[in-house]
Amino acid sequence: MNIILLGPPGAGKGTQARHLVENRDMIQLSTGDMLREAKDSGTEMGKVVADVMARGALVTDEIVIGLIREKLEGDKKGGFIFDGFPRTLEQADALAALLEERGEKLDAVLAMAVKDEALISRITARSTCGTCGEVYNDHTKPWPADGSCVSCDTPEVKRRADDTEEALRTRLTEYYKKTSMLMGYYYAKGDLVWIDGMAEMEDVQAEIAAALDA
Ligand code: AMP
Repeated sequence: MNIILLGPPGAGKGTQARHLVENRDMIQLSTGDMLREAKDSGTEMGKVVADVMARGALVTDEIVIGLIREKLEGDKKGGFIFDGFPRTLEQADALAALLEERGEKLDAVLAMAVKDEALISRITARSTCGTCGEVYNDHTKPWPADGSCVSCDTPEVKRRADDTEEALRTRLTEYYKKTSMLMGYYYAKGDLVWIDGMAEMEDVQAEIAAALDA
């Protein structure tokens, strides 16, 4: 089963993808994570994308399509979760072609709906575990007082460089200008399922499970 998690920054795509990886043996393909890895390890490509990412703008289609193409060559286990990809119509067309070449198809596109005010408050209070990716929130789920992650015990708390109000404004504008039309694109193909991303995390998990099992 191959699925896309579609939604604005802070919608909960990463959190839900992690849950699916643990429970359905799927593979999470997050272009954001791949780009951050390239940036942190200082590759040529990482240097090119660093400034674009810090501003909250989109990296070129060519770069992200290249990253996805490479990952599709690897093990697919229970299927791929595309997280943060595609973000433009060109990327969506490229994904369709890449899957078709491999005799694969998309099974569902889960569109996570969350109000802008909630996105802003979630993102500006967000931190993640640098080892396992567990997501924390300063107000609703603070980093444990004993200093280590609840999931993996590491003390490595991380804040994303682009989780600032200014970068977030650009990220949201990019989302509404270039990505949100993908809802129409996938609706027309009959693949779109709306998920209430404002619900509690466990309820979102249940809604996604029901959509995938339908
Ligand atoms: P994310 O972790 O998905 O929020 O992505 C973080 C940043 O990486 C974005 O703000 C973009 O700069 C870049 N990025 C991630 N995925 C894509 C994509 N599919 N297309 C273009 N840029 C991307």
